[in-house]
Amino acid sequence: MSDTSTVLPEKATHHQTRAFNQQLVLRALYDDSPLSRADLARLTGLTRTSVSDLVGGLIDDGLIEEVGRGRSSGGKTPILLRVVPEGRLLIGLDLADSQFSGAVVNLRGEILRSMQLPLEGRDGEAAVELVFRLVDALRADDPSPLLGIGIGAPGVIDTRSGTVRWSVNLEWTDLPLGPLVERRYGVPVVVANDSHAAALAELTFYRRPRPTNLIVIKVGRGVGAGIIINGQLFQGDGYGAGEFGHVSPGDEGAPCRCGRAGCLETRASMRALVDAARTVEPTITDETGLVAAFKTGVAGVRQIVLDAARELGSAVGWLIGVLNVRHVLLVGPVVALGADWLDEVRRSALSSVLGLFARDTQIEFGHVHDDVVVLGASALLMEQQLGLGLVR
Ligand SMILES: [Zn+2]
Repeated sequence: MSDTSTVLPEKATHHQTRAFNQQLVLRALYDDSPLSRADLARLTGLTRTSVSDLVGGLIDDGLIEEVGRGRSSGGKTPILLRVVPEGRLLIGLDLADSQFSGAVVNLRGEILRSMQLPLEGRDGEAAVELVFRLVDALRADDPSPLLGIGIGAPGVIDTRSGTVRWSVNLEWTDLPLGPLVERRYGVPVVVANDSHAAALAELTFYRRPRPTNLIVIKVGRGVGAGIIINGQLFQGDGYGAGEFGHVSPGDEGAPCRCGRAGCLETRASMRALVDAARTVEPTITDETGLVAAFKTGVAGVRQIVLDAARELGSAVGWLIGVLNVRHVLLVGPVVALGADWLDEVRRSALSSVLGLFARDTQIEFGHVHDDVVVLGASALLMEQQLGLGLVR
């Protein structure tokens, strides 16, 4: 689980070898600070001399620092080292919901400053302009040293090229979002699907020990899953793994923004719930109104929400049946609906799978309480730029 999958080229240059070893040291400190140089030599298998040399380089880069002395095991008391949380800052964005959110984040996934801009129905070019406005605002007081920008966006995203292949809700098709943002700000940019990002956030910033397998289901404007298998994000053959919100049992049902009809998203997403609730309680216009009506027990609204929870639950049951993953987390705006909604999803999911699976499977709300997509996009950026081995 925690072994590295980074492979050093067979004929590595001196520079490559040094960069690789530096990542090993940084990774060890990221997972378990503070450590002494002797601890690092033991954990990485590098010699004491090369550890001292690499540590020197990382201190010069501002990524790690000395934080006092540890206990002696006989000789001199060792100097302890740790990752400097603010050694690099990142800008993380979440473009998946009814407002665009962004934050300046440190290397520990702590949000230093955040802001939101309402989407107000924008899509296409206007939505891209809103992304720029958000980044401009977050860069206003010069977060530095800035490692780059991580973006979580809805839809099918080619993370390799930073292209949004298709985002139903933003009407983006083959949009080179990563390159556009990179050109404008001159820093590295990564773009990932919002549910994939959420899974990376849970994997990186919460669970210790990190689970080997994990399904993170995000329910907000849309419905999607991020799937971690063998400690790695599974993106599928076309970056669309986990897009089960657009699986439809047939062509019957409400039209979906994807062009088909009857998709799970048309019944179980927050947007669908708000629309359905409005038919029985016309005063409900947004998610806050929906949640309030559900919690105060407005009869028709309760029924609509619990029916949708059951339907989502049976789809979750399929995922569990196919993958036999024991940890399932539900994240996103839907968390506001609380325990009654979760219980219904859980009951429906676990009653639809083999008893053996049901006993072993935990279905819970996510543990990362700050913006899970912002943090996940940041985790991916850290992985790409620093090679912390967070995403394996
Ligand atoms: Zn659809």
